[in-house]
Amino acid sequence: MTKRIAFIGLGHMGGPMAVNLAKEGYMVEGFDLAPAALEYARDNGVTLAASAAEAAKDANVVITMLPAGRHVLAAYQGEDGLLAAAKPNTLFLDCSTISVEDSRTAHELVQTAGHRCLDAPVSGGVVGAEGGTLTFMVGGDEADFVEAKPVLEAMGKRIVHCGGPGAGQAAKVCNNMILGVSMIAVSEAFVLGERLGLSNQALFDVAANASGQCWALTTNCPVPGPVPASPANRDYRPGFAGALMAKDLGLAAHAMEATGVDARLGSLAEEIYRRFAQGDGAEQDFSAIINEIRANSKTKEMA
Ligand code: NAD
Repeated sequence: MTKRIAFIGLGHMGGPMAVNLAKEGYMVEGFDLAPAALEYARDNGVTLAASAAEAAKDANVVITMLPAGRHVLAAYQGEDGLLAAAKPNTLFLDCSTISVEDSRTAHELVQTAGHRCLDAPVSGGVVGAEGGTLTFMVGGDEADFVEAKPVLEAMGKRIVHCGGPGAGQAAKVCNNMILGVSMIAVSEAFVLGERLGLSNQALFDVAANASGQCWALTTNCPVPGPVPASPANRDYRPGFAGALMAKDLGLAAHAMEATGVDARLGSLAEEIYRRFAQGDGAEQDFSAIINEIRANSKTKEMA
């Protein structure tokens, strides 16, 4: 069956994701509030709708790729909302990164309105969205997952069913907490190595093949040189922007508080990246945290 897909939120991620669906032969009707986002989507095979509700009314699947939980919940609800506009039993896929709590609220709203729901946040960034190589972490019913899989495969390479409602968001928040903490750890180790007279390459050659090995070191290495493709080699242009890491760690902090987990490193990473994203770090790759650690180390040395 040809799937008619409504795609709400055609930004940095949603735009290329919607375009990839159109390239795979899906009939994609898109909507966004920003004229530039609409233009890119229209020029690349997406039909534009006059409103979100208009896009949803004939769709089999409604995808949202919005900035935060409040945008998703607002887009779903109300007289002009997506839930009221869609045909009964429509499959709602929310690919935005939102809190587990908001995601579970979204599942409830969708089900109460007589539809079906999956949370399906992504990792892989804009490059993954453009290349159709995203990883999707999915929460919701198995039968809905099976139905959604071909749609997700048009936009991604790895599709993982993580469990019930909110499980996709839970996997995303836990993974990104590991990433935030490990990037800080790797960056601190490089700065310490520098102070001890060790070359960055020597530390890399050892740690990349020893127990310090991790993605933050071997793929997104925070110093230029050892990994030519890492953002450090292009003046820390993202990549994965500091603002997005701060956002995801904020969601992790929210989840830690809600569950009472004693995650001290996660909490500290949240604080460090929140401060980092208040300045230039917002626009830089999150690995630029190493520059902040260096700068703070200088201040300490002089004190
Ligand atoms: P973005 O700001 O580029 O895009 C969001 C779009 O939503 C904007 O174009 C905005 O105009 C639109 N929008 C907001 N409210 C709307 C509404 N009511 N109706 C229609 N459109 C509306 O953000 P992005 O980078 O595309 O990120 C989207 C989501 O994906 C976020 O939740 C983000 O955390 C997550 N994410 C982003 C990345 C990344 O690298 N950019 C990676 C993984 C996950």
